[in-house]
Amino acid sequence: MLFTGRVRLFTLLFALAALLALAGCAGQDIAVQPTREGAKITPAKGAGQDLPAQPAGQAAEQKKEAGQNTPKVPRPELGVPAAEARTPAKGNKVAYLTFDDGPNSDYTERVLDILRQKKAKASFMVVGRNIRQNPTVLQRILADGHAVINHTSSHDYNIIYQSAESFIADLDECSQVITRYTGSPAMIFRAPGGPDKLNRDFTEKLRKRGYISVGWNISAVDSDPHGVSATQVYNNIAGGLERVEKLRLTPIILMHDGTQLTTTQAAPGSALAIYIQNREATLSALPKVIDHFHGKGYKFVVVDEHTPPAW
Ligand SMILES: [Zn+2]
Repeated sequence: MLFTGRVRLFTLLFALAALLALAGCAGQDIAVQPTREGAKITPAKGAGQDLPAQPAGQAAEQKKEAGQNTPKVPRPELGVPAAEARTPAKGNKVAYLTFDDGPNSDYTERVLDILRQKKAKASFMVVGRNIRQNPTVLQRILADGHAVINHTSSHDYNIIYQSAESFIADLDECSQVITRYTGSPAMIFRAPGGPDKLNRDFTEKLRKRGYISVGWNISAVDSDPHGVSATQVYNNIAGGLERVEKLRLTPIILMHDGTQLTTTQAAPGSALAIYIQNREATLSALPKVIDHFHGKGYKFVVVDEHTPPAW
């Protein structure tokens, strides 16, 4: 009797507990329902699995980056040109547009507008001191998927060509500035005045430091101190392409978006006026230059470690 009573009591208690548990679940369900979306996002399934190790490392990286670069910098991936913009395997008809001496506030963005419109990629040989003056222009170069190539920090021949050491120090300084925006050092460089300026001592020391030189084999001749017209720029490049094709070289075209100017108010006939005329000539010729190459089946890609030697 006592035993059956106990059993009944247990059964009763068990049933009561089950009921309470059910009510509890139901209660939870009701409470959670309105915020179900939120409940899914927080600790629930996927997020919990992602939490250990890996993101913690990433967060530390980001913190480190943020600490190193006090001004706001774009995400490092902005500096990585899209895969289709990089040098492809042999057999494809590719060409390289390169613009030296920027970024500047007067012409670089106009070059970028044309490139965007014509769906062409280019490489910008940038000068450290110009980046400091025009960081947003550099950011746009990167955001548009073009390459940024080291063109020294000062671009001052008196400093950089003193010795291989001073040349490397100037390149290092520019690389550090570029790294703030791209997340990686800028080891591909173009020597101001061209690779012919580098003697054996320079080239050996540069190679040991891991620097890779990139020259050109077609020149727009758009730094002519006598001034050039858009037609001349176009003809210089189209003629250069014919020569390069005969030599079976990959076209690497030298143009200038130019250094930062302190003023665009120039007296007629002055060196500055001619400089401005030359920049305008390059800009006017550029769409036709791109069309000419596209018409011959070329695709413009960016300079990278796989870019073939100019000569
Ligand atoms: Zn230059």
